Amino acid sequence: MTVSALTRVHGTLHALQVPIPYPMKTVTVLIDTAGPVTLIDTALDTPEARGAIEGGLAELGLHWPDVERVIITHHHPDHYGLAGLVEERSGAAVQLLDVEIGRGERYWHLWEDWLPGHVKHMQDHGLPPELLATLEHDSRRTRDRVQPAARVQPLREGQLVPLAGGEWEVLWLPGHADGHLGLWNAEESLLIAGDAILPRISPNIGLYAYTRPDPLGDYLQTLGKLEALNPARAVVGHHGPLMTGVQARARELRGHHHERLDFVRAEAGREARSAYALSLAMFPRDLNTAGRRFALAETLAHAEHLRLLGQLARTWQEGAWVYHG
Ligand SMILES: [Zn+2]
Ligand SMILES: [Zn+2]
Repeated sequence: MTVSALTRVHGTLHALQVPIPYPMKTVTVLIDTAGPVTLIDTALDTPEARGAIEGGLAELGLHWPDVERVIITHHHPDHYGLAGLVEERSGAAVQLLDVEIGRGERYWHLWEDWLPGHVKHMQDHGLPPELLATLEHDSRRTRDRVQPAARVQPLREGQLVPLAGGEWEVLWLPGHADGHLGLWNAEESLLIAGDAILPRISPNIGLYAYTRPDPLGDYLQTLGKLEALNPARAVVGHHGPLMTGVQARARELRGHHHERLDFVRAEAGREARSAYALSLAMFPRDLNTAGRRFALAETLAHAEHLRLLGQLARTWQEGAWVYHG
């Protein structure tokens, strides 16, 4: 007899911790049985994740074909991976924020066109050849674990969606992804937050190819929004399913990014360097190749935010952008 993997969040809304092959170990998938039967987020497509979601559905007396709607908080593979499979098995409507369809979801469909731009972006910001060499292989492996939906319906900021017998407002919480959405139940002071805020790690705020120009600026505004909203509880994508203290955590994360901005400004002011070189100073510890790429994208988001504020400049030098005071 196994212990139930489901946590009841509110009424008919249940959270499931689904295994993913990433350091966070699990992603939160929500199941609502109130009707329309809904999944929120779907995990990466692995046999373990399929099995876990099937198990969660079965515990609620459901099977894949019963799912009528899939809402995805953002297009990242650990949240979007199985969306196409659920759509295929059930005919469920897959929904993302309209911004995310243009900026994120599309890239799974245009992946072959996206890859060269991604590689060039990393190269232009100083990623060395030995790390560039693994980029295509790693990227392709992730792509193989994502089944994009054939048809995606847009949700809009401010729209009300029925969930767990109530009405939830769609929020736009950009930064971690351009079109990251939240679902807000004011009556319960309950937020479905995805990766917009996390209790144990700072959500990666990275500047990648083909994204909005200032993800960190977006994220600082999102933190302000979350602070003002002050939810009593939030369902989070990792290390959850539930967290409290969102307002204090939002303030803490803002302080953390301000410290990093001060650091990048001082380092680039001291010596002109590429974002990759700055990332070695900001994240001096040993990281694997994927970790070094996240570190580069995160450092770059900070450097570009400072450049857009007029506090740093950048110059093209010997095949890469260098940031300086
Ligand atoms: Zn994410
Ligand atoms: Zn995630």
